[in-house]
Amino acid sequence: MSAKDEQLKAGTSKEWNWHPDLPVAVTPLFSWPPRPLATFRWFATNWLPITEYLIYAAMAGVVWAWLVPPLDQMQSLSWGWVLQLWARNLILMTLVAQGLHMWLYGWKKQGEDYKFDRRGPAKQARIFLWNDQYWDNVTYALLSGVTVWTFYDAIVWLAYANGWAPMITAQSNPIWFFALFALLPVVQSFHFYWLHRALHIPWIYKRVHSVHHRSVSVAPWSGFSMHPIEHVGYMSLLLIFLVVPAHPIHFLFIGFSLALASATSHAGFEKLVLGDKAHLKVGSFHHQLHHRYFECNYGGPEMPWDNWFGSFHDGSPEATERVRETKRRMHSK
Ligand SMILES: [Zn+2]
Ligand SMILES: [Zn+2]
Repeated sequence: MSAKDEQLKAGTSKEWNWHPDLPVAVTPLFSWPPRPLATFRWFATNWLPITEYLIYAAMAGVVWAWLVPPLDQMQSLSWGWVLQLWARNLILMTLVAQGLHMWLYGWKKQGEDYKFDRRGPAKQARIFLWNDQYWDNVTYALLSGVTVWTFYDAIVWLAYANGWAPMITAQSNPIWFFALFALLPVVQSFHFYWLHRALHIPWIYKRVHSVHHRSVSVAPWSGFSMHPIEHVGYMSLLLIFLVVPAHPIHFLFIGFSLALASATSHAGFEKLVLGDKAHLKVGSFHHQLHHRYFECNYGGPEMPWDNWFGSFHDGSPEATERVRETKRRMHSK
């Protein structure tokens, strides 16, 4: 194996305590000529055997069955059911983000295994509330994040309860019901790229998005730690359920893939080690690169906007050099 190939293999490097196989993988869904087999494999590994998406879909089923106020109660706005949704979202967010935080950073259950950045969250840093990244991130995520999430939840539930939003079931539209689970993350990636691209316009970046970027070495609570205006944009994807025929389980699923998955994608670790052989992929090296080098990887791997617009960082030192050059050009302007 050549030295170059060796560098591409998952492992440690000068820059990273751990990096996955390089170049960073992105979806083959939009390849030309089409790559049906690779595309099939991409979707299969997104969902099988046990993956984050599968867990969110299962959670959506459980929440729909037991943790949603009765639809007839939600036909008119009232504090009772909205606060119930708020409390549920708060508990779910805390369980996932704090659970990951304790496992990875509190109890250090897997030491440095699969940890991307050698550094940890910042302490004694004046840019954070209470000079502490952890408490700062928790505050933004819970006070602003969960509240904005619940605000959109309330709008869409009100619409479902009154029959204003198109609802399907697994019986009425079985193919669409299952296809939506595969399609929605692609739509989410579309929405995220364009919103995030706008957030990096210097005027908006300074006032809004810089709140999220203060966390350079990210940890679970950093993901949902955003300026309230960014939360309003980020969670607005939920409004597609006012027009796209779907089941409330899809709506819950996307709520989780936005809010809860921000904790996993910013976990700072590629995988959770849950036993000798059991691993669960959580972290996103694609986005970790964005937090370190800023002017790259605005989107996610489910839609290759960065590849199309030349802002893709594939994890290689050459890409780092290219991004640094872009930044020098931007700042000299
Ligand atoms: Zn950003
Ligand atoms: Zn981020």
